[in-house]
Amino acid sequence: LWHPENLQKKYGFPELYLKDDGVNPTGSLKDRASFLVAAFARKHHIREVVVASTGNAGSSMAGVGAAAGLKVKLFLPKTAPPAKMIQALQYGADLVLADKNYDQAFSLSLEYSNTRGGLNRNTAYNPMTIEGKKTISFELFPQIKKVPDHIFVSVGDGVILSGIYKGFRDLLKLNRIKNIPVIHAIQASGSSAIYRAMNSGVFEGITSETVADSISVDIPSNGLLAKKNLESFGGQCILVTDEEILLAQKELSSSCGLFSEP
Ligand SMILES: *Cc1c(COP(=O)(O)O)cnc(C)c1O
Repeated sequence: LWHPENLQKKYGFPELYLKDDGVNPTGSLKDRASFLVAAFARKHHIREVVVASTGNAGSSMAGVGAAAGLKVKLFLPKTAPPAKMIQALQYGADLVLADKNYDQAFSLSLEYSNTRGGLNRNTAYNPMTIEGKKTISFELFPQIKKVPDHIFVSVGDGVILSGIYKGFRDLLKLNRIKNIPVIHAIQASGSSAIYRAMNSGVFEGITSETVADSISVDIPSNGLLAKKNLESFGGQCILVTDEEILLAQKELSSSCGLFSEP
């Protein structure tokens, strides 16, 4: 948990914090889910894990799977960032590139695990992805020593968002906290399915295009639950343009020393 002094001063929020999940072993929050999936596979003597990804979930499963001695079959859109493909290949994953997009990679991976077997780790498909990701709330609460007033989270498929809600809902059920924080789902204006569904009530597939490749999703695979959580707990959805994303990326790096992907 970062205490970004320069940003706190500049924006006048002395209790502004940054939760950096880039320090997980493969470099993203996705490891929280991959560790649980790998443990489940080993417990049930499943030797192969299948996953579709925009990049990070794939390289995460590949790395965590390598350490756990599992075979990893990975489906990525051919537009995935080369750095993430190289990372997954170095970990030893078997890589398949879908020529359309992430949504196609998702379907192909399901077809593969349904016909050939293996444990499918797809985000929103495997419930352990939410169970793993909720651990971020279990960390955040003791680190801040109270329920945060607001949490801002970048959203593509909506699984991290639902995981954060699940963590706080569990803490509420355990009587450890009294309220759920106000959560703001941040989407890129070029990949805004949840934002649009919050306003129109329906999910429609519009081809997404944004520099933020990790949240570039046409139809969010966990959209319904994300929307339900936001509506039930007074959450908000906010759009940001690619220009704002790139400016914020630069500001995080140059004012705090936190280098992140867009
Ligand atoms: C996966 C990911 C997201 C979005 O998570 P969803 O569960 O798809 O909403 C945001 N940022 C980064 C860096 C990610 O890897």
